[in-house]
Amino acid sequence: MPDRIETESRKLLGRLRATLAEEGAGQARLDRIVHLIAQSMGCEVCSIYLLLDADTLELCATEGLKSDAVHKTRMRLAEGLVGRTARLKDVVNTANAPAEKGFRFMPETGEEVFSSFCGVPIQRLGQVLGVLVTQTRAAREMTADEVYALEVVAMVLAEMTELGAFAGGSVSPLHQRPVMFRGTTGQEGAAAGTVYLHEPRVVVTNPVSDDPEGETLRLRDAVTRLLADLDRMLAEQAAVDPEQAAVLDAYKMIASSRSWVRRMEDAIASGLSAEAAVEKEQTFARARIGQAQDNYLRDRLHDLDDISNRLLRILTGQGADNGALPPDAVLVARNIGPGELLDYGKALRGIVLEEGSVGSHAAIVARAWAIPLIIRAEGIIAEALNGNAILVDGDQGIAHLRPDPQVTKAFDDKIAMAAAAQARYADLRDLPAQALCGTRVALHMNAGLMADLPSLEGSGAEGVGLFRTELQFLIRNQMPKRGELSSLYGRVMNAAQGRRVAFRTLDIGSDKVLSYMKAPEEPNPAMGWRAIRVGLDKPGVLRMQVQALIRAAAGRPLTIMFPFVAEPEEFRLAKIEVMKALEREAIIGHPLPQKVEVGAMLETPSLAFAPDWFFREVDFLSIGGNDLKQFFFAADRENELVRRRYDTLSASYLRFLLQILARAADKPVSFCGEDAGRPIEAVVLAALGFRTLSMRAPSIGPVKHLLRRVNLTAARAVIDRAMADGRGSVRGPVMEWLAGLG
Ligand code: PEP
Ligand code: MG
Repeated sequence: MPDRIETESRKLLGRLRATLAEEGAGQARLDRIVHLIAQSMGCEVCSIYLLLDADTLELCATEGLKSDAVHKTRMRLAEGLVGRTARLKDVVNTANAPAEKGFRFMPETGEEVFSSFCGVPIQRLGQVLGVLVTQTRAAREMTADEVYALEVVAMVLAEMTELGAFAGGSVSPLHQRPVMFRGTTGQEGAAAGTVYLHEPRVVVTNPVSDDPEGETLRLRDAVTRLLADLDRMLAEQAAVDPEQAAVLDAYKMIASSRSWVRRMEDAIASGLSAEAAVEKEQTFARARIGQAQDNYLRDRLHDLDDISNRLLRILTGQGADNGALPPDAVLVARNIGPGELLDYGKALRGIVLEEGSVGSHAAIVARAWAIPLIIRAEGIIAEALNGNAILVDGDQGIAHLRPDPQVTKAFDDKIAMAAAAQARYADLRDLPAQALCGTRVALHMNAGLMADLPSLEGSGAEGVGLFRTELQFLIRNQMPKRGELSSLYGRVMNAAQGRRVAFRTLDIGSDKVLSYMKAPEEPNPAMGWRAIRVGLDKPGVLRMQVQALIRAAAGRPLTIMFPFVAEPEEFRLAKIEVMKALEREAIIGHPLPQKVEVGAMLETPSLAFAPDWFFREVDFLSIGGNDLKQFFFAADRENELVRRRYDTLSASYLRFLLQILARAADKPVSFCGEDAGRPIEAVVLAALGFRTLSMRAPSIGPVKHLLRRVNLTAARAVIDRAMADGRGSVRGPVMEWLAGLG
């Protein structure tokens, strides 16, 4: 970096520092900043545009344009060169602005006399907050060095904007204004609470420094500590988890890269603090490779982000402790695995994820707990701060961050209405799910956690149709012991008070990864080494689990089912393990269960075409619709781009379910996927012939409410007619029929 610019930008930043320290309204600060920049850069015009909302920029301060235009001139990101700078997140530098594509003339600013234009995005970590613009009468392009100086200043402006330094003008700064995020429903329901960030980010409060030597030393010291931390973690992980060690190795390569450190030292030399220099490098790396389609590059960007955040935490001392979970916490995260979510426990009021998918097990946990969940709330991570007020509208898939009082008021009414509806469902608790035609459907609940057990009483469930045993494995840091499992299963059976509990053996793999068990690197884990495949290849865990279940039953009836059976032989081998375990227990003298039912989950289409002996061999079948549907349509249950594309009520899928019911006519067949808990789907499933539906406990009320108001024979007639008419999905006709019933 040439000395001239270092002194130029340092001089400028030195002046900005004084302005930063000044007391006074945000507008006065902005005015002073544009004045200083114009003067230092020798430009007639310097303006700052800040983002008003996701799509609009407002002129907030100017030196050189007409002052009347301030807080009046607004533009969309799609408009003009200022909009282009923000949209592209890149510098627009031209000697002849009017000749540029997209140039928009704004007479109110008096800008026609200016020929050159240099727009620099004011951005932080890939998020644009505004645009810094210089203009000159003379047709000259800014030199690379001048652009660099403007970028450094824009970086400081970004930090100041974040800190609310410009509050007081008509533009409320980022992190203070109300923002609405439109995502997708993961779990219905409404909740009001306080943001709790899963991974809080670091706030840089000192972007500028006049002590480059001191800052460089701080940076080097922090990098040394970072490397030492990585070495320590590598030594810990090497033996336990080679994949994690490989990631740490990649981190080490970045952290020891001379060019990475040099770029940050250059930024310090230009007047930034060590923290701001780290952020600047992070921001620029995002701009360089953030748009790349290449997965490898995007992964490296993720590594760099992680490394930079670690370095920032060392420099600022922030982030080590996220503070206590507030009593009304709404968890905000980019994404979260089921194990991490279970760590938080049921105390959360709501969850908002920037990514995430409805079919994931984290979503299933949230649904089991009836915690309103929004997924794909794009941009929330950058906006939300710990402690912000937030309203979660799970029905609409909308989150209101820092809401206005009117929105809060309307929301309170919504919460009150939802509570009233729940109370109505509670009245149905002890009534049977009996349709108007007299058919009774047994409604069971899905469970997996001790926290689910009170719902057995509260929901009126007739039993537990699916106990996901893996959740107990996911919440631990090490493999649970047999004794622990057996006392836990015993408590589940006690809570069930004689009602049937279908214990599903461990279904790990896919998105359910145990931190203490080495998982293979798989290109497609949902179709990979999971569930019964793991159980049969590593029978030790399966045997331990079956033994724990037999001991827990202690003479009571026991129901076991195997997940993800694709071939009858897998079922046969797994059942042999149960038989052998029973023999061993008898030899040791432990009491055997009064009766043992062994069934299979039907989650792969292949099993529906199994030989007849399989349907004789199983004591029961339970359709895992979540997996079955994803494999039937070849549509990943976790991929939001495709998972909604295919309707559960499609005629093809229903025809397939009817075939399964016909083949297993002599055996009980239940349905335990998420669809069973959706009232309209539940009515259709019951009309097809399912007599047991298992769902998350909070769905039992709404499903029972609808089932009790319909005639299933009439529903079946509607379905059959729609299928005979060649309808792609029966949803439309069924909805019309239900609407006709009022
Ligand atoms: C299913 O696939 O429908 C099921 C109940 O199992 P899980 O959701 O746990 O994969
Ligand atoms: Mg499944």
